[in-house]
Amino acid sequence: MSSRSHLFIMALLGAVMTLTACTTSPSELGGCARGDVRLTQDFSGSPAYDCTRTGPAAFELTVRPESTPINPSPWFAFDLEAERETAVSIQLDYGEYEHRYRPEIDRGNGIWEALPDTAVRLEAGDSVAVIRVDVGPGGARIAGQEVFGVEDRARWRTDFAERHGLSRQMIGQSIEGRAIEALSRPATRQGAPLIVILGGQHPPEVTGVLGLRAFLETLFETPSGENPLDHYEWLIVPDLNPDGVHHGHWRQNLGRMDLNRDWGPFTQPETAAVRAELEARVSEGQTPFLMLDFHSTHRDVLYTPPDDLGLSPENFAADWIAILDHIWPGEGDVFERGPGHNPDLPTSKTWFATRYGAPGITVEFGDETDRDRVTMLAQTAARALRIYMERAPARNAAAEP
Ligand SMILES: [Zn+2]
Repeated sequence: MSSRSHLFIMALLGAVMTLTACTTSPSELGGCARGDVRLTQDFSGSPAYDCTRTGPAAFELTVRPESTPINPSPWFAFDLEAERETAVSIQLDYGEYEHRYRPEIDRGNGIWEALPDTAVRLEAGDSVAVIRVDVGPGGARIAGQEVFGVEDRARWRTDFAERHGLSRQMIGQSIEGRAIEALSRPATRQGAPLIVILGGQHPPEVTGVLGLRAFLETLFETPSGENPLDHYEWLIVPDLNPDGVHHGHWRQNLGRMDLNRDWGPFTQPETAAVRAELEARVSEGQTPFLMLDFHSTHRDVLYTPPDDLGLSPENFAADWIAILDHIWPGEGDVFERGPGHNPDLPTSKTWFATRYGAPGITVEFGDETDRDRVTMLAQTAARALRIYMERAPARNAAAEP
């Protein structure tokens, strides 16, 4: 295009925009992303819901899942911006679903806070939530939980691996070509037992991310004496569903699969990548010992295999939880234990137990669990695992021929 015709089109566009601005009435304010008060959904972790402007500072979002049927985790994440301090109203329309996530707000300083209950009004049998919040020129990000987009997660993995001397390796790619990255740490001897830690299968499960990070930070702290971690091979895949995270999905990957129902079928590249890596390690002589998979639900619970399943190590869950309960520094209950969870579903923990005869445990933190408690639970679980490992060498040596 010549520069002259380019200029002409720009002028025409300018004229059209001026015309639109002059003639809009409140009911015809147009899109959500323009005007003095704006709502946008264009960062990693935000969905692309239909947005309707219902007033100069009022919006309606149609909150819908990526496909159905689906686990009801109606996620939302959007940015607000206003030219001057303004009371903004955002109506979330959940259709046949119900409000689940208490909104969190980041006013541009990277600090997330729960919005007060008075800022959210539920209507129509909880199928509609109306959020009211004051927003100014600094803007605000509001979401169902704290937002950890794919860039943030990649940065955390890189930083964690560097600080604790783990190696990073791309073991596969998501449907949209994002890296499925594994962090590894080798044992000091050949044929050591392998511990696998997974996370990020379900995008809105943010307390699972917070728990996984706190757990790993504590577990991989370097002790002054002998490090019990040296007796194990470590394979850590913190972010199994980067596409789902990026697009603000409720549950699935881009293949419209709940990834934690694909351990067995392995129809999706994300889960298939982990299986291939595990099978490669097994063929090199590593022995799967334990798998922990981090998630979120309505409460703090460990879904464990039944004690009488005949797994090796025997009674891992009972022993680990006994240590955890014993050293728990907080008040009241620690994790609930849910032994009979989904034994017939193709989940990671069921597959791990079936394929390798070793325990797989789903570690769940509550969506609304106080974040300090999430950290304390995760740190205590890590310390308990360390204590278990410090006691285990004798047991392992006794089992060797
Ligand atoms: Zn989950």
